[in-house]
Amino acid sequence: MVSRVIPVEVFDLVIFGATGDLARRKILPSLYRRFFAGQIPPQSRIVGAARSEIGLDDFRALVAGAITEFVSKDKRDPEVIAAFLTTLEYVAIDARGDTGWDALKSHMRKEATRAFYFSVAPELFGDLAERLHSWRIAHHHARIVVEKPFGRDLETARALNATLASHFTESQIYRIDHYLGKETVQNLMAVRFANLLFEPLWNAQFVDHVQITVAETVGVEGRGAYYDKAGAMRDMVQNHMMQLLCLIAMEPPYHFDPDAVRDEKLKVIKALQPVFQEDIVRGQYRAAAGAPGYPEDAGDPDSRTESYIALKVHLANWRWKGTPFYLRTGKKLRARASEIAITFKEPPHSIFDDAPGWRENVLVIRLQPNEGMNLKVMIKEPGPGGMRLVQVPLDMSFAEALGEEGADIPDAYERLIMDVIRGNQTLFMRGDEVEAAWAWTDPIIAGGEEQGERPRPYDPGSSGPEDALMLMHRDGRRWREIQQ
Ligand code: NAP
Repeated sequence: MVSRVIPVEVFDLVIFGATGDLARRKILPSLYRRFFAGQIPPQSRIVGAARSEIGLDDFRALVAGAITEFVSKDKRDPEVIAAFLTTLEYVAIDARGDTGWDALKSHMRKEATRAFYFSVAPELFGDLAERLHSWRIAHHHARIVVEKPFGRDLETARALNATLASHFTESQIYRIDHYLGKETVQNLMAVRFANLLFEPLWNAQFVDHVQITVAETVGVEGRGAYYDKAGAMRDMVQNHMMQLLCLIAMEPPYHFDPDAVRDEKLKVIKALQPVFQEDIVRGQYRAAAGAPGYPEDAGDPDSRTESYIALKVHLANWRWKGTPFYLRTGKKLRARASEIAITFKEPPHSIFDDAPGWRENVLVIRLQPNEGMNLKVMIKEPGPGGMRLVQVPLDMSFAEALGEEGADIPDAYERLIMDVIRGNQTLFMRGDEVEAAWAWTDPIIAGGEEQGERPRPYDPGSSGPEDALMLMHRDGRRWREIQQ
């Protein structure tokens, strides 16, 4: 299969927070990979900005180091790296100060697409927006990219939206949720809306339930203090898992167009019903084998923040009334695995007398590792001995199915940054979507806080707390194994 890379137009991209962790691990290596692929014109300019008074040479060295550390060897060509480094500039700027803005302005070119990536703490978004505006650096075609967390509740998200809206229109604001940049997540839309096969079955009449799992093996590591103010509900469910839920549950948009897609996602969020506390299980990983437990990692022995959450969610609309969506996410679990499993109902009647009990068809969409899809179907067990049925997977790994091109699936950040340059907002969250997601999330968090219960302990390397198993068992269902 021939790879089709369409170059974007020449751009000036300013990365505020260019010396930080996200820039080093994701943004700059992603830009390099797109440059290597021939998608970024060499006349483009990438301007790093942060308070550190480092010179351009130091910044280039920092970026070269990030490429060595985070880009695979087969893409590290010294000539390409050298060419990429010449696109870089650096400006020392304090988001809250007044120096450096003149220098930044001097790097901006009239004819280039202009984008500003706010890879700094959200408290600085307002300062950056205001200064870009007052220094006349961001004209009305300029785009800004903002990172999660987008607020910590409805009130703060509204305030943040209002701050950005005072300087930028909605069409200029790109709120990143990197899950939307994942190949398989977009494939969800392709599978649903480019095939006739699934869509007629994609509703409460035929789908028994949906499971969405985002499992991590790592704990909160050095981020305990930050994470303890968020917890799994804010860190994962309100944004990433909500986006997955939207793409599974939404109606077909009239066109693959940013607002048409986002209108449909918004309708899903608005149809989410309040969740009963008995349908929520919160957990915290225990200390084990000399490794600290969650409260020690968080630096608060009395922490009530959840490092794991499972919940049963219902949608009040025609398509999904009666089909539960089970969501679970957690840290220090058995395997690093993200997947969506759509479990179809059993056939209404068995014609096979000696069938060993019906097993449902399950469509599994794997986000990581090994992005792909897997459909479990019933077939006859081979050999003599009558009609015995067995469930087998029709397995499709994108990497295998698509050959070389599939093995080279771009990182979510690569795709999303290129979409910013192309001016395509389809895979970015709109302000009203984020607010609606918080409006649903806030009472769930408040309910947990009112209860004041300590989250259920679970063993590191397990599938989560026992009570989460019960959440499914009492409905006569079970979680799928969390496996790599
Ligand atoms: P970080 O490692 O702490 O980096 C922060 C960056 O901001 C540094 O370059 C810092 O450089 C700069 N900075 C701090 N104060 C500044 C100021 N007043 N003016 C200008 N620059 C300033 O943080 P990060 O992990 O990269 O995260 C950046 C943003 O991305 C945050 O909003 C975070 O929530 C979000 N995010 C991060 C990740 C991740 O994996 N790291 C994932 C998702 C979202 P100086 O100190 O030199 O100014």
